[in-house]
Amino acid sequence: MTTFRSLGLAEPLLRALDACGYDTPTPIQAQAIPAQLARRDVLGCAQTGTGKTAAFCLPILQHLSEGLPARNKRSPRPKIRALILTPTRELAAQIGDNLQSYGRHTPLSHHVIYGGVSQRRQVQALERGFDVLVACPGRLLDLHGQGYVDLSAVEHLILDEADRMLDMGFIHDVRRVLRLVPSKRQGLLFSATMPAAIVKLSREILNDPVMVEVTPQATTVEKIQQKVMIVPQADKKRLLRELIHTQDVERAIVFTRTKRGANRLVQQLERGGIEAVAIHGNKSQNARQRALDAFRDGRMAILVATDVASRGIDVDDISHVFNYDLPHEPESYVHRIGRTARAGREGIAIAFCDPDEVKNLRQIERLIGEAIEVDEDHEWHTALPQARRPAPTTQRRHARHSRGRR
Ligand code: AMP
Repeated sequence: MTTFRSLGLAEPLLRALDACGYDTPTPIQAQAIPAQLARRDVLGCAQTGTGKTAAFCLPILQHLSEGLPARNKRSPRPKIRALILTPTRELAAQIGDNLQSYGRHTPLSHHVIYGGVSQRRQVQALERGFDVLVACPGRLLDLHGQGYVDLSAVEHLILDEADRMLDMGFIHDVRRVLRLVPSKRQGLLFSATMPAAIVKLSREILNDPVMVEVTPQATTVEKIQQKVMIVPQADKKRLLRELIHTQDVERAIVFTRTKRGANRLVQQLERGGIEAVAIHGNKSQNARQRALDAFRDGRMAILVATDVASRGIDVDDISHVFNYDLPHEPESYVHRIGRTARAGREGIAIAFCDPDEVKNLRQIERLIGEAIEVDEDHEWHTALPQARRPAPTTQRRHARHSRGRR
């Protein structure tokens, strides 16, 4: 049996993993850790939830702590030797938390840098020095432009959720950051999907990489009960209120397409006596963190989110995912519903589809390779002209994507 010890991890990291309660490496960890410990570059195809963060953090911590004496006040100021680039603040904060847990028995320090908050504490930390920097590209370039960041000692460069960085338009910023780090370094790139642009980027930054791909757990999507309700846009808010009241909704994420839509929906739910909180890119970092904390520790059962803001949110026990608006990109649907049925539990994903959104529904069904069951019994069901109905469930095809977990 593969154990963390058999992967070659050192004692201080093994003790930390033990304290986290991890007994066995996940598939991505079992594949990526030995390659990285052997100083190879890695191209990893893996989504949130697979254990990819530990897969790239542990070898970095091991390399950086090798031969490093215990630190005291007279120790030289640490230099940034590992840079982890990530698309969102939430993801950056989560990686920071993981580094804290896994590195607790090493002398290493880290700091997390993102926009939307005052730069004062980030500048103070940069002046004190630390070993690992987790950063969103925009704020990093901003602070570099002001002369606060020195990346000349970077030995490990990690691009996390590279496809998301591309989607969010960060690719030029990423390229600018790449020019600031030494060309001789270990490179790691992790991405949930591998579109051509990511393959191209990986060729630019990785040297003869080991390819690591995890086959997502077959059970994940199968454990999600998917349904679609055909309902006019104007009736969606009432339908959502009704479902929250009548179904066993313990903890739900409701996805809207726009930030304004998310805010409006929270107000509408509150008017109906349902407490909810929105999380999206226009909220301050503090507000987003507060919302997420309330959702995670169960004080708030309903989180209304846009795709970008929800990315990387790692909360278990989500009983329902409501697709209040269908996403324009069918891949987002798989990301969204993958928020439920985590950790092997069952989950329910309900999509609200205005007759005008049927084309989006069809794209989703093509991607996942199966028709989503239409809830026709529900009184809200709007009769659709036959030609616009989603494909019947008997036409199931089996595409690889249908097993995807995001
Ligand atoms: P990630 O894919 O990095 O977002 O990790 C998903 C979740 O799995 C996080 O909550 C981790 O703390 C947890 N995790 C990572 N590795 C393991 C492991 N080997 N055993 C149990 N849990 C893990």
